[in-house]
Amino acid sequence: MRLKHIKNANVIISASPYLVKDPMEYKGKWNELFGNDNPIEIEIGTGKGKFIISKALANKNINYIGIEKYDSPLVSAVKKLNEVEEVPNLKLICFDAANIDQIFNKEIDKIYLNFSDPWPKKRHAKRRLTSSIFLVKYDNLFKENKRIELKTDNDDLFDYSVQSFKENGYSILKVDRDFFDEFTTEYEEKFIARGKNINYVIAQK
Ligand code: SAM
Repeated sequence: MRLKHIKNANVIISASPYLVKDPMEYKGKWNELFGNDNPIEIEIGTGKGKFIISKALANKNINYIGIEKYDSPLVSAVKKLNEVEEVPNLKLICFDAANIDQIFNKEIDKIYLNFSDPWPKKRHAKRRLTSSIFLVKYDNLFKENKRIELKTDNDDLFDYSVQSFKENGYSILKVDRDFFDEFTTEYEEKFIARGKNINYVIAQK
């Protein structure tokens, strides 16, 4: 994905009350940070934040965390949040999910993977957020049931991900190759406008 570099992005996002600057400090304590025992759902690769912000606004009894590797897309998320009512059930983290096991321990209820980078070259397959390397790391994040919901325009990434879920002990609860979601992402809107079908899978173990 081509990323627009935003000058002082780190400074801008650090000023936001939604950004958790030292996420490793909250490993095993995220419910304490939210101040309740509500379920916690995370989106990995949250980009500009449209999906996770609208989810948090619509579901006040669920805590949401958007995780994004780069600071520039999070500037848009922070700007969106400045324009809405306070969202106490939402946090943002600027962090590489390659190390996600350093920030959560048995406290997550659901992972959303929305329009993840496809990394089409075989030699880059390990970087896909649904490779076995990542799925093994996700195991320790979950509280009880391990549930992942994935949406993508990319048919090859979708087939790869369904296969990878199965190989890692997940049951496939639902597959929809022409999915319509009330909660869209920035990428999703672009693909819908082009008439591209959206693939969706729910995997659980
Ligand atoms: N989910 C958003 C959407 O649908 O509009 C953004 C999709 S964009 C194609 C993929 C996003 O995932 C990028 O913002 C990228 O920086 C982020 N990403 C990729 N690898 C990541 C990683 N290892 N950890 C955290 N974020 C990652």
